[in-house]
Order: sequence, then C-alpha cells, then structure tokens
Amino acid sequence: MEFRQLTDRVFYSMFDKAADRPVLGYVNGQKYSLMIDAGNSQKHVELFYEALCREGLKKPGITAVTHWHWDHTFGMNAVEGITISHKKTNAKLAEMAKWEWTDAEMKKRLEAKVEIEFADTSIRTEYPQLSEIRVVTSDLSFVESIEIDMGDVVAELYHVESPHSEDCICILVPQERVIFIGDAVGVDYYNNCCLDKDKLRSLITSMEGFDFDICVMGHAEPMSKQNILNIMHSLMDRQENE
Ligand SMILES: [Zn+2]
Repeated sequence: MEFRQLTDRVFYSMFDKAADRPVLGYVNGQKYSLMIDAGNSQKHVELFYEALCREGLKKPGITAVTHWHWDHTFGMNAVEGITISHKKTNAKLAEMAKWEWTDAEMKKRLEAKVEIEFADTSIRTEYPQLSEIRVVTSDLSFVESIEIDMGDVVAELYHVESPHSEDCICILVPQERVIFIGDAVGVDYYNNCCLDKDKLRSLITSMEGFDFDICVMGHAEPMSKQNILNIMHSLMDRQENE
C-alpha cells in the first residue's frame, strides 16, 4: 500500500483500482487520530494499519466515513475505536447489514436494481469469499456538522449536498488547510449516473466557502482548491449545455 504524508499532521493511502479501494485519510492528533473512510474490507484496514505502524503512527481512535458506498464502509467492522457517519449513511448501512451476501442474493439485488454492476463486480473481486462481508452501522451519527478535537488539531465534519449521494460529508482540517470530500464530486451511480445540476451548484457553493488549500478525494490524486473548483465548474457548464 502506498502511504503518503500530505502536511505536518495529514497522511493518506493511495486508491487502488483493482477492487475499487478508495483513498484512506489520516489526521494525526496528540490525543487521538482520525481515519477518514474505513476502506472496503478487513484486508484494506489491515494494510492501512500496517502502513501506520511502519511510520510510527498510532492507530486511529475515531474513523469517519464520507458516505455509505461499500468501498468506503465495508471495512468498518474491522477498525478499532469509534466510528462516525451521517445519519443517512447509518440508515443505509442498517439496511445493508440485513442483506445476505451470497451469489444468488447479489444477483437478485442486481436484477431489482438495488445494486449496480460496477459495485457488484468490485465486491466480487475484493471478496472471493462473499460470506466474509460484514456490514455494520457507525457508533455515532450526526445531521449537520460535528467537530472532533484531537488534542492539538481539530477536524470539522459537515454534511454537504452532493450529486454523488445524499449522505455525503466533508472533513475539513482547518489547521492543515486540507479537506477530505470522498466522492462528493461525482455522478450518482445508483441513479443512472445522473449529475444533478442543483446539487452540484450547492456543492460548489459549499466548497467555495471552505477555507483550504488541498482537497483529498476518494479515487483521485489530491488537488488544489482552484483545480477542484475548475473541475466542478466545467462539469456544471457541460450540464448546462446538454
Ligand atoms: Zn461513492
């Protein structure tokens, strides 16, 4: 696993396209550390913890997930400490925790369009043994925002309106001038890959309002505030021309 330092207190592991593993973030606080997104499996979490150990960093006391999609949450059962998510994320996780993870049940969910092809394929790549899948809800949940004081550094979690999913949160670390946005800048794979213009506009307004230099995303290289805003504005222009 490729593990990188972004600022004094912020680190992240790179995404991996093979089984759609997203970037995992880490904010190193004196009292506790925060992990951002729980990865797609126990194996993903273990690799992240091994990377932390190699760097001499403590295991996170808190793990926040950016939205409900499997690649960001299926590692939740394997993280240590407390987990936190948006209330809507938790509601979806509670629903998925009841699902059966067998070939037949997964096929049924595909047919019923409850699940999408891309997730189904990636889940099968990550889990040769489907029975190993464990979906759990988070320990804490919130609606608008919550602040986590980790001693010498604070993280601010905000719910944002996003075209990707209705439960997206952003994690701003003001002191480090870094924001984690998960997949917030993206289409809704669960709704015909639709890119809702109003939601995108709302997200642009939120992002413009956050004070940061570097934006960390779920499946891409980190980029500057200007670059991510440019991308969002060009997506907006494309939508308006359709
Ligand atoms: Zn997603």
